[in-house]
Amino acid sequence: MRYEDFYRMSVEQPELFWAEQARLIHWEIPPQKILDQSNPPFRRWFVGGTTNLCYNAIDQHLAKRGEQLALVAISSETGITRELSYRDLYREVNTFAAVLKSLDVAKGDRVVIYMPNIAEAVFAMLACARIGAIHSVVFGGFAAHNLALRIDDARPKLLIAADAGMRGGKVIPYKPLVDAALDEATHSPPRVLIVDRGLDVQMTRVSGRDLDYASLRVAHEDAEVPVTWLESNEPSYLLYTSGTTGKPKGIQRDVGGYAVAMAMSIRNVFDIAPGQVMFSTSDVGWAVGHSYNVYGPLIGGATSLLYEGLPTRPDPGIWWQLCERYGVRTMFSSPTGIRVLKKQDPAWLKRYDLSKLKWLFLAGEPLDEPTAHWITDGLGVPVIDNYWQTETGWPAITLMPGLDLKPVKFGSPGLPAPGYKMKVIDEGTGLEAVPGEKGVLVFEPPLPPGCLTTVWGDDERYLSSYFSHFKELVYSSLDWAIRDENGYTTILGRTDDVINVAGHRLGTREIEESVATLPAVAEAAVIGVHDELKGQVPVVFATLKQDAGVAGAGTVARAMQQRVVEQLGGVAKPSRVYVVNALPKTRSGKLLRRSLQALAEQRDPGDLSTLDDPGALEEIRRALERGPDQG
Ligand code: ATP
Ligand code: MG
Repeated sequence: MRYEDFYRMSVEQPELFWAEQARLIHWEIPPQKILDQSNPPFRRWFVGGTTNLCYNAIDQHLAKRGEQLALVAISSETGITRELSYRDLYREVNTFAAVLKSLDVAKGDRVVIYMPNIAEAVFAMLACARIGAIHSVVFGGFAAHNLALRIDDARPKLLIAADAGMRGGKVIPYKPLVDAALDEATHSPPRVLIVDRGLDVQMTRVSGRDLDYASLRVAHEDAEVPVTWLESNEPSYLLYTSGTTGKPKGIQRDVGGYAVAMAMSIRNVFDIAPGQVMFSTSDVGWAVGHSYNVYGPLIGGATSLLYEGLPTRPDPGIWWQLCERYGVRTMFSSPTGIRVLKKQDPAWLKRYDLSKLKWLFLAGEPLDEPTAHWITDGLGVPVIDNYWQTETGWPAITLMPGLDLKPVKFGSPGLPAPGYKMKVIDEGTGLEAVPGEKGVLVFEPPLPPGCLTTVWGDDERYLSSYFSHFKELVYSSLDWAIRDENGYTTILGRTDDVINVAGHRLGTREIEESVATLPAVAEAAVIGVHDELKGQVPVVFATLKQDAGVAGAGTVARAMQQRVVEQLGGVAKPSRVYVVNALPKTRSGKLLRRSLQALAEQRDPGDLSTLDDPGALEEIRRALERGPDQG
């Protein structure tokens, strides 16, 4: 089917369209009503239908593909690879579910999961789904404070943690962080269930509270736990946003709508059919991990690869080696991941047989054109930039190679996904922007299945965070975008990253892109800094490639300024350029432009608990003290 027809039907006849897609999953009781919009912007999909995410991810496949690989959990840190068929996964998840029940976890209870990318994290999620408990996975790289915030908001009955994760060969004990988080949090779950990988030999246990999974597992081996059927709109899980722009929100998802969105997108967006192999390099703690390491591929009867480790260890070919070994068809990663590889020898991209690899999807941050070209040329497969948010749960703007691939346009994630009634509107007037004009990216209600249903425990916050920005009732993405005459949309940055230079509105992305076209530049972050005369001026922080050549930082910095003037005009000219060794990013690889801006304006950089590498911020402080390389 043509993309145009598929999309048009999804927005013009949503009930017809989604009723058709709903047939992709198993319903215990079929939906009575496809869409209930009686209380906008809230909406309920597949009302009255009952289903279960775990049943759709595992049980429904047992008869046809019980012996097929379902999950391959690879750790280049411990050197351990675990291959699980659908039948193996069924056993492990049932055992895990029996353990949860033995700990009094029941339908509607929250369970916080704080684990690295290991198979048990997936068992725990699916076991919760099986019994109707609401999981909330917290990314294992988050510090105790981040964990405490989420515990207090979700108020879990149980916390599941691993003894430790590993990164770059170093053991990172989790348990001390769990203990510190529980000291800080006001809510305390009665039990902590520990998956002991044997990595942290000094781990201590709090008696009466901390339990070892291994011994409970033995006690419940071979247990079978009946599926708890849930009404389509009951909550399935919570996932907190990364907190790049402020206090994280507990994004709540439903059961039926999410299952349908996963089944539809794994097939039509990601081009994965039953029996095929998908490799997402995400952590299970992120939205991509939930949707395309766990639920999407499993609901779709595919094989999913889960990876613990760095993209460069044991060598920068590790991802492609895995693609060869398992015959990966669709790979999913992030621009940040690719930029790490870009600093390495491109010969690594050519060492393995990638004849089965058809697509590389990248999401999470703007994909700059030079990086897109580098990886497209290196791999020889199309690179699909796709735009989404924790809130949407699946791509909102993308191309759909599983349905009908439209031409890739570098710099743009492409066209709206089914069900997203997308508009770019003027921030002031709320009127739709004409092609080529910048504005705020919004979605008209109803949001499609799979998107958040509300903010956990806080409908008011759902309304005020997303639906209160314009006179019209629309979901604001809080991202700044521009559309071309063919409907291709480019994300220019977050609305609070927009720079206002003497009345001209500039997206940070435009300037970052321009600077990154210089071959010597590895990565750039652009911020608006207060200026008496112009309101704000653009300031650039950039890292250079390792083999950037002999030219001094000053020369490259001048070239950056020149390039921006040539491409975007004099108003966009960076007033200062700092060449640095590292840029501050969150653990999910997003640039912390807000903290950069605060430092440059001599303000407090704010909440830095999601910062990946504290050294990067020191580096910025030193650069600011030392003065710009140009300007
Ligand atoms: P918070 O909302 O708590 O501040 P966050 O927005 O960083 O956190 P996510 O939901 O993980 O948390 O990130 C979504 C954001 O990432 C989008 O709103 C957009 O700014 C950016 N993004 C994601 N994919 C793309 C893409 N393909 N191109 C450009 N930007 C993207
Ligand atoms: Mg956000």
